[in-house]
Amino acid sequence: MTAELLFVGTELLLGQTLNTNAQYLSGRLAASGVNVFHQTVVGDNQPRVEACIRTALGRADVLIVSGGLGPTSDDLTKEAAAAVLGRRLLPDGASRAAIEGYFAAVGRRMTENNLKQALIPEGGEAIPNPNGTAPGIKIQDGSKLVFLLPGPPSEFEPMVEAAVIPALGAMQPGGQTIVSRVLRFCGIGESELETRLNDLISAQSGTTVAPLASLGEVAIRLTAKAESEAAARARIAPVEELIRARLGRYLYGTDQESLPGVVVRLLAERRLTLALAESCTGGLLADQLTDIPGASAVLLAGVVAYTGQAKAGLLAIPRESVSEYGPVSEQVCSAMARNVRRISGADLGIGITCVAGPGGGSAKTPVGLAFIGLAHGPGDGVRVARRVFRGSRRVVKCRAAKQALVMLRDRLLGQEDSSGH
Ligand code: ATP
Repeated sequence: MTAELLFVGTELLLGQTLNTNAQYLSGRLAASGVNVFHQTVVGDNQPRVEACIRTALGRADVLIVSGGLGPTSDDLTKEAAAAVLGRRLLPDGASRAAIEGYFAAVGRRMTENNLKQALIPEGGEAIPNPNGTAPGIKIQDGSKLVFLLPGPPSEFEPMVEAAVIPALGAMQPGGQTIVSRVLRFCGIGESELETRLNDLISAQSGTTVAPLASLGEVAIRLTAKAESEAAARARIAPVEELIRARLGRYLYGTDQESLPGVVVRLLAERRLTLALAESCTGGLLADQLTDIPGASAVLLAGVVAYTGQAKAGLLAIPRESVSEYGPVSEQVCSAMARNVRRISGADLGIGITCVAGPGGGSAKTPVGLAFIGLAHGPGDGVRVARRVFRGSRRVVKCRAAKQALVMLRDRLLGQEDSSGH
């Protein structure tokens, strides 16, 4: 069975919206063992949408369309599909009631054009949309199956799970299932990781081992195909064991886990609290940690002390230290970590100061120079890491925040410096 994907929206063509629906749906279909040979993006233009639908139905068994189901005149996916399939658009009572109920629940006035969303191509079946107004639509046309789904990911993704995946699963009894598992590492570079797993990466056995790199961390995706999900997982398990045996100390999580999530969990498990003093990262680390549910139990405070004056006023760092050693120095970083810990009463304190660039560098303090300090333990001791990060301002900030997370994880696991420096 082959499926084809069509994404409708001029904003996608202009680069204003990232096509995350493509990534989401492709991943889910691959995991369900459905072949996808073509994906298309087309603007809000009815003749062009019709042409895409016609082409897709000429070569695939299932067509999944995202976007263009809204109430406005540039939302024309339904009209295009109805035209290609030769069906009229008819009002659907249940969809109309759901739309009216949605507006009543959110306390907004419904306009007449919202009722356009309750029109369904004749013979089609409405897919309920609990997170928005436009229902999805499922249409069987001879041997072909067509899904029309709304564009917003918060509406699209639940409908893929509730309606598309089960329908496709039912169409391929005994089909192959593809399962992927992601192992996430920190404190080890991509090239070293690849070198240490080279034999597994090139083995081409039943489980594919593929490195994935992103800012300051690396991941390995393990993929296996088998007759059932359990069988595919059983293929992955021994390869994962081998990798854990070699690189377990760098492995911080799997699948959707994140490094801030792991740090919040470790702090909570140990009933420890944290405070942050950030300069160049401008609150980035606090932002990442506060994205994690439950952060309030472990993060006491985060201070963005950008200027020397703020470092003196908010963190009680003597102005003379800042002028003597410079704002980006081991001494100032260490004082930031120590003082934010003391002032807030947290168990652990982090200080981050760096030259984010692109200007402002010197021979002594080059662009990208970063000090990341971790205050912990019974005394006033601070462990300070000195790094020089290469890349844009954003990259330097991200890497500095990531380094702080790596140091926190190491400390919480009683592991000294997995970053190998
Ligand atoms: P609505 O009922 O909300 O109008 P719709 O089906 O008409 O939904 P569109 O108008 O095409 O959807 O898109 C609405 C918004 O959904 C877009 O502005 C964009 O933010 C998001 N969106 C649309 N398509 C995609 C996509 N492929 N990936 C990610 N986001 C998307």
